[in-house]
Amino acid sequence: MKKGNSGAATRRLYFEDAYLTEFEARVVDRLTRDGRTGVVLDATAFYPEAGGQPPDRGTLNGVAVADVQEDGDRIVHFLDGPLAGEAARGRIDWPRRFDHMQQHTGQHILSQAFLETRNGETRSFHLGPDVSTLEIGLRSIEDADLEAVERAANKIVFEDREVKTYFVPQERIHEVPLRRPPKVSGLIRVVEVAGFDYSACGGTHVRRAGEIGLIKVVGWEKIRDNLRFTFVCGGRALADYAAKTRCLRRIAGVFSAQEKDAAGAVDKTVAELKEARQRIRRMAESLAAAEAKELVARAAGPVITLHLTDRAPEEARFLALQVSRAGNFAALCGVAAGERGHFVLAAAEGLGLDMRRLVPVISATVPAKGGGGPTLVEMVTAEPGRLAEALAAARAFVEAELAKK
Ligand SMILES: [Zn+2]
Repeated sequence: MKKGNSGAATRRLYFEDAYLTEFEARVVDRLTRDGRTGVVLDATAFYPEAGGQPPDRGTLNGVAVADVQEDGDRIVHFLDGPLAGEAARGRIDWPRRFDHMQQHTGQHILSQAFLETRNGETRSFHLGPDVSTLEIGLRSIEDADLEAVERAANKIVFEDREVKTYFVPQERIHEVPLRRPPKVSGLIRVVEVAGFDYSACGGTHVRRAGEIGLIKVVGWEKIRDNLRFTFVCGGRALADYAAKTRCLRRIAGVFSAQEKDAAGAVDKTVAELKEARQRIRRMAESLAAAEAKELVARAAGPVITLHLTDRAPEEARFLALQVSRAGNFAALCGVAAGERGHFVLAAAEGLGLDMRRLVPVISATVPAKGGGGPTLVEMVTAEPGRLAEALAAARAFVEAELAKK
């Protein structure tokens, strides 16, 4: 939206009292933008989307306020329906707003804690619907350092420091030890977490740091040359703790372990599983070797067709290779595995066949894709019920090729 629209500035009641949830005001303008109905009031407690904080929700005369945006000095309320009359009674969705106040004030404190503890400057802040993010000018961070930052931030919360807001004229703003230079000019609104952090900010904040409850970083990732931290405060931190406790109790329960030993139990089980898989693979290989020997001994000719079920494709591959290596044999193997069918077509080099020529033969029978080399071709089809048909076509082709030799 363009700045500097005509009309008097909207009085921002949330500047005067961030805890105001109901107010009365007069409609001074109505507009339609992108098909949305908007009203401008002479005064409002609705916070518009700004400074990384999402807009408030609530109602005006019972009509839902879907969005609130700044338009220069004015604030536009976009409504879900028409608003009758000139007098408007506003009601703020307080749980949503208070949640935003907890996250936003928590961000000020966390930003200052990063600066004091790790010399990490705040690059950007985003207050999301579930978590918030803070981009900090740090290349890397150790667990112990992050814990130190969290301790420094929560110390301010536990001390229940007062959060003050006041306006300072631009020419005197240098007297305030702002964490970041102001982005606005004129009369600058300062939010001070008593004696700890000074920010130029137009957002809504709690009165005392104790209302934030807890500040917790829950993850981080590299972005550009910085680190982006994900954090939660207050009610979100409690919900996150509850969810994590549920999750950890469940994991500990599965492993019949104490919660503190759960991670170790998971590591141990994963290692055991890896070893068991290797053992199964070795066993499957020796089983396939014995099976291949038997198949070759019973074979009436050089072409052996195998239609398998209950086998993994890699087991079928191993079996087909074993057969083709046991002498001058071609193994045409089909295996149905779930919703897919796999073809493994292997031939001994001595037969002088090019198995790649089977690709169009199979494809002409069932829709299948794949490829390989002269002695081994693998294909997959989404129609495992038609493996036998395709294997018969492949067999006829291979036998005809061998008859030519
Ligand atoms: Zn703020």
